[in-house]
Amino acid sequence: MGFLSFFKKAYYAIIGAFKVKPSPRIKEPESKPTPSIINPDDDGAFCVAFIEGHSWRDEGARSYNKKSEKSFNDKVQRYVFKNYSGKIRLVTFDRPDYMSYGSAVEWLAKECDNINVDLAIELHFNAAGVKTARGNHKRIIKGDHESLSYAKLFNRTYLAMFPFATFRRIYEGVKGVCGMGRRDAGYWFCYHMEKRGIASMLDEPFFADFRNEESEPFMEGDGYKKLGDYWVKCLELLEEELNL
Ligand SMILES: [Zn+2]
Repeated sequence: MGFLSFFKKAYYAIIGAFKVKPSPRIKEPESKPTPSIINPDDDGAFCVAFIEGHSWRDEGARSYNKKSEKSFNDKVQRYVFKNYSGKIRLVTFDRPDYMSYGSAVEWLAKECDNINVDLAIELHFNAAGVKTARGNHKRIIKGDHESLSYAKLFNRTYLAMFPFATFRRIYEGVKGVCGMGRRDAGYWFCYHMEKRGIASMLDEPFFADFRNEESEPFMEGDGYKKLGDYWVKCLELLEEELNL
């Protein structure tokens, strides 16, 4: 061993002793949020996870009337759980506050996998900082045909229920479904779900940062119930489609 390599070894031994161990990529939350589950006893049932985008620390975008994505979608999710009474199993998780987006989505996918989630939907609303922005879309990973089939059904339902809505993106001829690549926001949520065989999508039902004919119906008063009723309808149609 030459002097230099001895020096090097000693250097790294000393540095190594002081170095903080890297934290594992998936951290377990200290107090694990219990998933709320509808139909908890029916393990075999088709299972949909409604996951509110963002966390209570980072609530996401704000609407023109100061509602955050997180608080709005929390109401939507609770409404769906209260008003859906079909055969599909529903679960939800809060994204732990202390986790970065990257480790949180990885953790969420693992939790969803553990309880056999079949389809994971992350709820958002859109904000572009542009007054003229309009449109609804579901974001899925490009080429994910299973998720595409669900997104198609949900989009058809959206258009049928909300005639004032428009679609912004077109993917594989389906209005309103947007294929994501690695650089797109939200990609990693779907990536980690897909890696575990879970169909997934992000929902961006409207742009809310300016008051307009598409945002107002949802953002004023009990408008969140409209979106909740929409998801209940989607679940009923999904039940039919899957012959449950
Ligand atoms: Zn968002």
